[in-house]
Amino acid sequence: MWPGQAMSLKVNQIIHHEKSKYQDVLVFESSDHGMVLVLDNVIQCTERDEFSYQEMITHLAMNSHPNPEKVLVIGGGDGGVLREVVKHASVKEATLCDIDEAVIRVSKKYLPGMAIGFQHPNAHTHVGDGFEFLKNRQNEFDVIITDSSDPEGPAESLFQKPYFELLKSALREGGVITTQAENQWLHLNLIADLKKSCKEVFPVAEYAYTTIPTYPSGQIGFMVCSKDASANVREPLRTWSAEEEQKLCRYYNQDIHRASFVLPNFARQKLGN
Ligand code: SAM
Repeated sequence: MWPGQAMSLKVNQIIHHEKSKYQDVLVFESSDHGMVLVLDNVIQCTERDEFSYQEMITHLAMNSHPNPEKVLVIGGGDGGVLREVVKHASVKEATLCDIDEAVIRVSKKYLPGMAIGFQHPNAHTHVGDGFEFLKNRQNEFDVIITDSSDPEGPAESLFQKPYFELLKSALREGGVITTQAENQWLHLNLIADLKKSCKEVFPVAEYAYTTIPTYPSGQIGFMVCSKDASANVREPLRTWSAEEEQKLCRYYNQDIHRASFVLPNFARQKLGN
């Protein structure tokens, strides 16, 4: 998915390697980025910079909803997004659905700083395909976060319009979603298609991004969509105080919420911003 370039990290020690039912699962201890989770040869998260992605994909959605009580995470088997979701006092129930038990098992064993999300009393885990999980869900969730791997592999269906229609049906009134939406330097055509599909399903669909050193080209983006036609997801609906932001987050703050939707001209023109 990133022709002509590669991201490599120096390996101190291979910690775990298996072929699960769905993908190749590798954990290694890196020289300078802590423990690293790799799925099908693609870096998923490193202990050094995962907080950027986990915080932004979560809080862009959660702070765009007035009172998120029931939250669903599709994918996210490392537990990092779940860790972020339960930072919101309004959350009564946080469910995670990942297709691969191996990722959850391995993350609990080797990525405790992310897998801590699984320990929260309001967190529940389901192992299964996110597409199938959503098929019989109506008006059930306030926020749904799709923290998936890339469209090449088991996450392919999570980047297509039928999935966004399932997401919309599963949301309550005023519901908000975020999805992992690749990189404007490498996948602008894919993002344009994604935004077109989202706009056909949701009245509000915007692209935002975060900087993260160990993803290709050092950044990754998100689609942020709302069922509420009057919503302005570019502005946080709810904010923590500066002190709370400092305590709760290492990357996200209300200013970077706004800034993350500001795109360079080449992307702005392609995405019709
Ligand atoms: N936060 C990191 C990132 O941005 O890439 C890691 C994402 S997380 C490890 C990706 C997860 O999506 C994996 O655990 C994978 O098993 C899961 N996944 C892929 N396809 C899926 C599907 N169809 N349904 C549910 N989970 C899926």
